[in-house]
Amino acid sequence: PINCEPLKSLVRTVPDFPKPGILFYDITTLLKDKQGYAALIDALAAHYIGKDIDLVLGIEARGFIFGPALAYRLNAGFVPVRKPRKLPAETARITYDLEYGTDSLEIHLDSIEPGQRVVVVDDLLATGGTMEATVKLVQQLGGEIAGLGFAVELDFLKGRAKFPEFDVFSLLHYD
Ligand code: 5GP
Repeated sequence: PINCEPLKSLVRTVPDFPKPGILFYDITTLLKDKQGYAALIDALAAHYIGKDIDLVLGIEARGFIFGPALAYRLNAGFVPVRKPRKLPAETARITYDLEYGTDSLEIHLDSIEPGQRVVVVDDLLATGGTMEATVKLVQQLGGEIAGLGFAVELDFLKGRAKFPEFDVFSLLHYD
């Protein structure tokens, strides 16, 4: 496996964003780095190459930043999972709980064929609520979860405990 530890120095932490008391892990500083972005995509691709992946799903918005590059490397298709009312054709929608309130995600009904092998990616795994909702959409459409991939995982929030049955793969871990 590719050693990603050096990439940690390219992730910026911003205190009190988006609200007081939250330490935000900002990956834009990694994305703009020539070697950093390539290493990020290469390391993700290395994990999934040879696993017969049909589709990469990216979660709006930061999953769109590297999901397509990963799909290209895997010779897979790309499917966007979007905030409500952005997708033009018929969709499935799921609503999930946040710390305060709820949020929703949608996917085109015809974006996954039953049995297709799907990797879902997002920039960061925190509590896992966003990914859990997306997994339910994939399962509703009959897709098979081949993996859940992240650039960053906040280990102390134990989000991966929501997915004991799946391959959860993150490049950078913070405790
Ligand atoms: P979860 O649903 O796992 O609690 O939160 C993960 C979602 O919130 C992801 O879609 C991710 O983009 C966003 N998120 C939460 N905290 C952070 C953070 O510190 N940095 C970044 N880049 N995204 C975050």
